[in-house]
Formats: sequence, C-alpha cells, structure tokens
Amino acid sequence: MHTSSSSSSLDRGSTGRRIQRSPDQFQPPDRAPVRKDWVPDNQQHVCMVCQRERFTMFNRRHHCRRCGRLVCHACSGHKMAVEGCTEEEKEVRVCEQCYSYFHPE
Ligand SMILES: [Zn+2]
Ligand SMILES: [Zn+2]
Repeated sequence: MHTSSSSSSLDRGSTGRRIQRSPDQFQPPDRAPVRKDWVPDNQQHVCMVCQRERFTMFNRRHHCRRCGRLVCHACSGHKMAVEGCTEEEKEVRVCEQCYSYFHPE
C-alpha cells in the first residue's frame, strides 16, 4: 500500500471557532443572478471578495455563479450546487463568501 499523500492540503481539524453573523457580513442575493446580470468583466479590476487581487491578462477573473461578482482564482476555489443556475455542471464555481454563507461551521 502506498501512502504518499503529502500533496493533499485539506484544512480539516480547524478549531471549532464560531462564525458570528455580523450585520455587515456579505449576504448573497436571494436568487442566483443569470449570466446577463453578472458584474461586467470590465467593471472591477480587483477581486470583489479579497479586494486585493488585481486582474490582469494572466490573473484571470471568475464569476461567482451565486452572487455574480468578479472574484480572483484564490477566492473562487469552491464549487457547490446553485439553485436556478443554468450551467450544465451540477456544481458550479462560487466565491469564498457565498460558499461560507451556505456552509457555516
Ligand atoms: Zn480574491
Ligand atoms: Zn459569490
């Protein structure tokens, strides 16, 4: 049996820190926006989640399928099923904030 799984980076085992719902916490829209309602590519030049990552030719932007915002690669690493989403895949790209909103721990 080979057990060389050094490359897996699961962040399990985080201490049970309570996430507090503060009023200014990001809240996704009630319904997932359709593609035409997404934030236009040229409207934002920085990631709308971390607000630090700049989009360039090489640092491509992504759309969160749940809130329609432009997010960087690092902030859109999650996938989940989005109700009302018309993509072919069952699980689609969502941003960090939408994901944690629907997956509070
Ligand atoms: Zn980001
Ligand atoms: Zn989102």
